[in-house]
Amino acid sequence: MASTESPAASGWLGELRAELAALEGRSLRRTILTPRHGQGETLSIDGRELLNLTSNNSLGLAGDPRVVEAAVEAARAYGASVSASRLLCGSTPLHEELEGRLAALKGQEAALLYSSGYLANLGVLTALARPGDAIFSDALNHASIIDGCRLSGADTKIYGHCDAEHLAELLATTPASRRLIVSETVFSMDGDIAPLPALVELARDHDAVLVIDEAHATGVLGPHGEGALARLGLDPEGVIIVGTLSKALASAGGFVAAGQTVIDYLVNRSRPFIFNTALPPASVGAALAALDIVAGEPERRAHLAALATRLRDGLMAAGHPPSDSATAIVPLLLGSADAALGAERRLRDAGILSRAIRPPTVPEGTARIRFNLIATHTTDDIDRVLAAIPPPA
Ligand SMILES: *Cc1c(COP(=O)(O)O)cnc(C)c1O
Repeated sequence: MASTESPAASGWLGELRAELAALEGRSLRRTILTPRHGQGETLSIDGRELLNLTSNNSLGLAGDPRVVEAAVEAARAYGASVSASRLLCGSTPLHEELEGRLAALKGQEAALLYSSGYLANLGVLTALARPGDAIFSDALNHASIIDGCRLSGADTKIYGHCDAEHLAELLATTPASRRLIVSETVFSMDGDIAPLPALVELARDHDAVLVIDEAHATGVLGPHGEGALARLGLDPEGVIIVGTLSKALASAGGFVAAGQTVIDYLVNRSRPFIFNTALPPASVGAALAALDIVAGEPERRAHLAALATRLRDGLMAAGHPPSDSATAIVPLLLGSADAALGAERRLRDAGILSRAIRPPTVPEGTARIRFNLIATHTTDDIDRVLAAIPPPA
């Protein structure tokens, strides 16, 4: 390609290069790492086997033969693609079955599949909120929630992370025709859990709709893997629940579970649902098989929780600052992007893959290593990680 020689190179392409160089200079440039094989507890990178502490495969089901076989069977039965949106001819009995199963898991009347959790957040927020409405959004919500808020055109009020008092103040002082409160339940970068009892109560008292994103809770929290509401014994009625199939459920895709009216409305008004090809049958089949395992093997959740406790306790014992993590996402806060990259390198030298998480994924000054545990890790794996972590600065 001669593009470097073209006049554009000195123009906008030059600007792109300068920006990339600036990111590099601030240790913020991102690159793609491609393991040669494995999405389980170990990955092969540059000819080395690394212990994987950075994947969302939290129940360890992505390579489970039952899940893989279900994906293959679904593809055999319904093809590699459905080649159309759900509203044309892209729906299969498997899609309907999965929606029924997700609705039941979440204690809701109905559910609707999307092509990703990202699109599910975009889909629900843009359909339910418009200019003139208000969305109250936690300061550390996922980018897909932020983008949904922006795209909706609603007035977005950011409340302090997990700060129910701040949220109450904003609710009391923000008039709007419709009000949505939106929060992750398990925060993806900190592993802490939203103050759900307070959010449910505030939504009720202020006539607001509560939307929760259960990306990291589905399959993992609650006695049957229902999610964070069940773990806290809260009634899901009236709550709109967003989730993903791409984490504990070992597949790809997203969903919204809610009352029938909300789901009917999304079918008619949610653009990321309407104008998007339906999930491939393999993804649907995999998620169905994963749901069977979520229901039948609660010991995976118990082991995962025990591993997380061991890692958190070990970090504390070594003198690292305590985190608010209450789940299998355990951050090690390091501050600067440089420090986080240094820790990533050091862990990698010890045979452990755990990636530095830097701004803008997390706020400035809170770069970190985020450990994502997998239910198929062993306690020895955790001890190996603890032994490899650099001492506190
Ligand atoms: C991972 C994640 C998503 C996106 O889900 P995908 O299916 O990967 O698009 C959305 N919200 C939260 C909180 C997440 O952690």
